[in-house]
Amino acid sequence: MPPFILLTNDDGIQSPGLRALFEVLGTLGPVRVVAPDRERSAVGHALTLHKPLRANQVEEGWYAVDGTPTDCVNLGVHGLLKQVPDLVVSGINRGANLADDITYSGTVAAAMEGALMGVPSIAVSLNRLDDPPELLQETARIALELARQALQEGLPPDTFLNLNTPASSARGVRLTVQGRRHYSDQVFPKIDPRGRTYYWLGGSERAFESLPGSDSQALEEGYASVTPLHLDLTNHRSLPLLRSWQQGQFFSETD
Ligand code: MN
Repeated sequence: MPPFILLTNDDGIQSPGLRALFEVLGTLGPVRVVAPDRERSAVGHALTLHKPLRANQVEEGWYAVDGTPTDCVNLGVHGLLKQVPDLVVSGINRGANLADDITYSGTVAAAMEGALMGVPSIAVSLNRLDDPPELLQETARIALELARQALQEGLPPDTFLNLNTPASSARGVRLTVQGRRHYSDQVFPKIDPRGRTYYWLGGSERAFESLPGSDSQALEEGYASVTPLHLDLTNHRSLPLLRSWQQGQFFSETD
């Protein structure tokens, strides 16, 4: 049986990156697209609970949803599709999703939602904002090969993959860890035509720490990066320190 694939993104159903993935993933098995009807970047793992959702079939097997990427995966799996997918792919995002930025990413959250449902899932992002066709195609080919490997070998429980490709043709693919970002974000106050202050977030250059083996370092050196992410946010390394609080008296004994 060829794998049944659910494809989504956070840049919206019109995005060329979504189309590029659709075209290559079709060589693996049937693909259904359930994607936001407009750009929903940086919505993180948001779920729409306070209004109904509508899905519009815009072409055969393509559904445009007035919700978030996480909504799309939910609606796809539990509502629109006739079967649970064997693979969830999210992307190709316009712009990289690296280091701490992945916590904001709708692209990554969609793959996280797939993982929460126990489905092997991959987030795919290209470190360009101008949709160059040849790099979208290259990214799609790398994603296809990664998807093939993940389906063949399987992924550990609660694990999903975050693939990023560099701004020019990749020298190879590195297995990486999540990097760290220097926060230099700014808030820009402006005055509206009625004399009231409004604000723009961000706009400053992103700066990543040069951590060897990290996702951002791989991209900087011209490599694509694959980081295995998991759903457990527990900082296991911090447990001994917290256990020692108040000489071990603060927390009750556990076994
Ligand atoms: Mn996006």
